[in-house]
Amino acid sequence: MTETVRNASRVQRFLADNPYCYFCGGRRQATTMDHVPPRACFPDGFMPEEFEFPACKDCNEGATKEDQIFGLYAQVLDFDESKMTRPEDRAKIEKLRRGILNNFPDALPDTSLARPVYHDGLIQTLSPQAISIQTPPALKEAVVVAGQKLAHALYMRETGKIMTAEHRFCTSVYQPQLKGTEALTQLFTSLLPETEVGMRRNIKNYGDRFRYMWGYKEVEDFFHFAAQFGQGLILWGFVMSKSVAIPSSGPLSQAPWQFGACGKGSLVSLNAPGTS
Ligand SMILES: [Zn+2]
Repeated sequence: MTETVRNASRVQRFLADNPYCYFCGGRRQATTMDHVPPRACFPDGFMPEEFEFPACKDCNEGATKEDQIFGLYAQVLDFDESKMTRPEDRAKIEKLRRGILNNFPDALPDTSLARPVYHDGLIQTLSPQAISIQTPPALKEAVVVAGQKLAHALYMRETGKIMTAEHRFCTSVYQPQLKGTEALTQLFTSLLPETEVGMRRNIKNYGDRFRYMWGYKEVEDFFHFAAQFGQGLILWGFVMSKSVAIPSSGPLSQAPWQFGACGKGSLVSLNAPGTS
């Protein structure tokens, strides 16, 4: 049996067990296996296991551009030099960068403006703690899509339920090495009781590549998470059922709340020919 055939039957079994798309509300048939976080966030072969989710074609392929862009930034901003010495890690980043240069040149960081950050809070440090990069608009779009997909995937993974159009959620991202973010990290650490660490069984030295903390209040159907990519980006979010009111004061009242089930597949009419 060839690798392709073996993989095809694995996908078939997966879709038989998980027939509905998690990203547009479970109303459309899943026909693909989507990787969340996107594979582009990891060197080849380092995608954590058990982060595969059923998706319709529109939800999966509609996010290809954003997956690539978010993946490049997640790897570059990880800023763990011990992880960047392997030739295959550098090769993957270079491949991503070339792909984005060819397909979406407006999404690349302007490296002439990138600068190391030499402070940790108010303390000046000898070695840089992070790299500050000016973010193009295409990155902001990529972060929005990455947040949408991660919120849908983790909500389903931990609650066993598909996020629907009756849910609301918000997500955002920050770099924990940057000054002024310590309070946010402390808040998440105090709020989120559970931790999941992404792993690959076949790789001994997997490194600290992907982990998330989460909490869920079942009665209110209130879910929140903070996911960290290496030592770099933290992507966090809240998911609420319609029975929970959006806070009327404080930072969450200003957050960009969105309706759930917002994958690209939700834009395709359920009654259109060929979408049954
Ligand atoms: Zn879908």
